[in-house]
Amino acid sequence: MATFRLAAFEKLLERKPVEVKREADLTSDFYGMLVFDRPKMKKYLSKDSYDAVIDAIDNGTTIDRKLADGVATGMKAWALENGATHYTHWFQPLTDGTAEKHDAFIDHNDMGGVVEAFSGKLLAQQEPDASSFPSGGLRQTFEARGYTAWDVSSPAFIVGQTLCIPTIFISYTGEALDYKAPLLKSLNAIDKAAVAVCQYFDKNVTKVWANLGWEQEYFLVDEALYQARPDLCLTGRTLMGHSSSKDQQLDDHYFGSIPERVGNFMIELENEAYKLGIPCKTRHNEVAPNQYELAPIYEECNLAIDHNLMVMDLLGKVARKHGFRCLLHEKPFAGINGSGKHNNWSLSTNTGVVLYAPGKNPKENMQFLTFVVNAIMAVYKHQDLLRASILNASNSHRLGANEAPPAIMSAFLGTEVNKMLDLIEQSVSEKNMSPEAKTSLKLNIGRIPEILLDNTDRNRTSPFAFTGNRFEFRAVGSSANCASAMIALNSAVANQLIDFKIEVDALIKKGVKKDDAIFQVLKKYIGICKPIRFDGNGYSEEWLAEAAKRGLSNITSVPEALKGYQTDSTKELFAKLGIFDEKELEGRIEVEYEKYMKKIQIEARVLGDLALNHIVPTAVKYQSLLIENVKGLKEIFGDEYKTLAGNRLEIIREISEHISAIKNKVKAMIEARKVANKIEDAHEIAVAYDRNVRPFLNDIRTHIDKLELIIDDEMWPLPKYRELLFNR
Ligand code: ADP
Ligand code: MG
Repeated sequence: MATFRLAAFEKLLERKPVEVKREADLTSDFYGMLVFDRPKMKKYLSKDSYDAVIDAIDNGTTIDRKLADGVATGMKAWALENGATHYTHWFQPLTDGTAEKHDAFIDHNDMGGVVEAFSGKLLAQQEPDASSFPSGGLRQTFEARGYTAWDVSSPAFIVGQTLCIPTIFISYTGEALDYKAPLLKSLNAIDKAAVAVCQYFDKNVTKVWANLGWEQEYFLVDEALYQARPDLCLTGRTLMGHSSSKDQQLDDHYFGSIPERVGNFMIELENEAYKLGIPCKTRHNEVAPNQYELAPIYEECNLAIDHNLMVMDLLGKVARKHGFRCLLHEKPFAGINGSGKHNNWSLSTNTGVVLYAPGKNPKENMQFLTFVVNAIMAVYKHQDLLRASILNASNSHRLGANEAPPAIMSAFLGTEVNKMLDLIEQSVSEKNMSPEAKTSLKLNIGRIPEILLDNTDRNRTSPFAFTGNRFEFRAVGSSANCASAMIALNSAVANQLIDFKIEVDALIKKGVKKDDAIFQVLKKYIGICKPIRFDGNGYSEEWLAEAAKRGLSNITSVPEALKGYQTDSTKELFAKLGIFDEKELEGRIEVEYEKYMKKIQIEARVLGDLALNHIVPTAVKYQSLLIENVKGLKEIFGDEYKTLAGNRLEIIREISEHISAIKNKVKAMIEARKVANKIEDAHEIAVAYDRNVRPFLNDIRTHIDKLELIIDDEMWPLPKYRELLFNR
């Protein structure tokens, strides 16, 4: 076997399982031990400081400097007791993942030594040199200052020896350079808009939260095999590899018994997550071999996103301890399922009501229907923005690939909710309804909960599906920061609720009774957003045709889909809610175009190198062996050699053809990059990479994968799919 691949196997065979014990008998005994949560604040803070923090968390008030000093002192005391030596402002730049710069808790004392120090000022704000983070031209390098500011609503936590303080990241002139700042604005917008609408139904509602329950899918690959695949190391996915004879055909991995080594990994992962207060709930094998899923109990959206980022980090770290590498890429292997991150989203009130769960009486159910209709109306109006919010280079492999939601946005509601909407749509306005019709409608609306109980409709092909008490936004990719999708969704729904209230209020002003006004506007909306409702198979050819007839957009090209951030309706939406001004939005799109182009560029370079340095030389070597063999036959048998060599002659020819195809295509791909690189405009260069470079990736791969089948297994340099997918 080629040395690299062989060495990987030897390491693999020597691997010993890493035994892991549960941190304590009961999860509740150690849950949150590394989080500066409310009970710890109560213990370590003065009453004034504690009250100030709680008020800031619950009501968004600001904390004055003196009280912030008090918070910093308490936080420091707790952190030092728990082994922390450093602190960091932990933030979410527009790259993948999170960023941190550690500072030690030290300052000079006046006797030439140091003292552990941490002030309210350091807690509240830092000025990292931010010039190397992507900003889409918002912050020129000569004006490198950006600053991070404490997000009080997400608690500080300790990782290793570092106290991490969740922060937003903005430029010196106030533009958001991260995901968290706009997310918090969108959460504030939906709170205000939803409270105003809830007031029609219940005056006690004063606060509405968006909830998020994410389901994280991932692959585990043995570390040694991973290291022998430069494409996995550098791009997160395999750029070549013939499919394994057996992969997921037998459906024997999904929900199967968890392999021991993976089981140990999961226990340690959960230990670490529980210490950080992340409520991991579900773990199971996913559809593809070596693919798994982790889902926590849902939480408030901002906290849930922080927790997801922490888990993505933990997945990587814990995997390595167990001799694995965790792949978060949306499509690490061609031909088998990729990984997504369903975003289960709902709204809930300070009165304890989940607004997407049907209520107990007609009034509560009118509220339920109001929120459902406005949500799908928002999806209808902002389908292009929602698509832009989830699409990028890696997720584009998944969408439309018969395993993940298609690039057409639609909403699945299930038979019963659809029936309710149809009923409202077909009714005359409440005012003109006969008393009998009114009673029957109310009865029908009141019956929703019992109906939903046995409503087992499950549609896996819909990008936005109602699942009983929430919507699942399923198009989000496994490596994404959920904030991107959540900013879009929360903003779209907030804006929609504002519009709804304006229309209802206008009718009320004209003398229409409140209930009837709500009814009339809902009825109108149900008619308008009908095209977005689709319960059928989102993967079918018929849906493509039907969606086009309905006027829904269907965009698979990433640079084209990203334009969804630039439409008038998107600009207007974000400006109206104060989430992004035009400059910020432009900066953000530019970052996305650039990320797309760079990812394709990296893949093209890696594939080119591997093709020329690994594959072609191997093919030449094997071909030479065959040629030697044929020559020998000729020497011994003379003219009879042709019959004796049989299809070897054919194979020699085939190898030559593949080699020259690979060489020519790599050359053409390099030329295409050169041409594209001369383009200045961020969108245009992304388009050029999409149209003129990206197609070579598949094209070259096809030849390599054919060679993999022909060439002596012993000589093949890279671990094969069957090895990557079945070692655990
Ligand atoms: P599925 O059957 O869809 O795979 P999972 O159990 O894997 O479901 O995950 C469902 C996720 O949805 C969990 O994180 C769960 O806490 C979350 N969830 C449940 N109810 C709600 C809700 N009302 N709002 C938001 N998320 C919810
Ligand atoms: Mg699940």
